[in-house]
Amino acid sequence: MTIDTADLKRMFDTIAEAIEADKDRLCRLDGVIGDADHGIAMALGFNAVRDALASLDLAATEPTALLNTAAKSFLNAVGASSGPLYATAFMRGGAAIKGKATLADADFIALFQAMAQGIKDRGKAEPGEKTMVDAWQPAAEAAAAASVAGRTLAQCLEAALAAAERGAEATKDMIAAKGRSSRLGERSLGHIDPGAASAVTVIGAMRKGLASDL
Ligand code: ADP
Ligand code: MG
Repeated sequence: MTIDTADLKRMFDTIAEAIEADKDRLCRLDGVIGDADHGIAMALGFNAVRDALASLDLAATEPTALLNTAAKSFLNAVGASSGPLYATAFMRGGAAIKGKATLADADFIALFQAMAQGIKDRGKAEPGEKTMVDAWQPAAEAAAAASVAGRTLAQCLEAALAAAERGAEATKDMIAAKGRSSRLGERSLGHIDPGAASAVTVIGAMRKGLASDL
């Protein structure tokens, strides 16, 4: 199976829909250990991506260019710290598949891993610091491991989603060391990180959006 720009657009549309539906929960989670805007920020970002992709001529657009458009529109729409983090994810994802007109399973795994690495590099967060990295990094590792084990892309994304869910849940037992919530220190204990929670929603929607191609 291969993934083309129309498939990637559908994937982003599915993320926008899932984030919009999850917006209030994400704001509530951010209200506990942050400034209550995470759902709004993510919805603004992914709605801007959806609108930007809608005006692309998909037949004349390569996957890398689509991801760069997503990065630019997300960054412009989001003032919160999730803006540059996801913009970097999309830019790095696009760079990982540069020159490809369509993506084979292994290309998509490379894109997914590059997204996670981009978030980690941009935020300079390590696992255990109670950020979206605690969902994205295990998800990327699980996807890569499943790919190496010869699984289908559907199975790889299934494994990624399960790992992201476990990673997000584990942030409850972490003390925030990066971003706004780090100001709370030990008072951040016991609460799930909103960025890790939204990462689960994003990864789940990526899988769902591509399901018909897998
Ligand atoms: P802000 O904190 O500016 O209001 P958001 O509410 O949109 O931004 O996003 C908060 C989320 O961003 C956090 O829950 C965390 O997952 C993530 N985050 C913050 N700083 C970093 C960082 N340095 N590295 C990785 N993720 C981070
Ligand atoms: Mg916030």
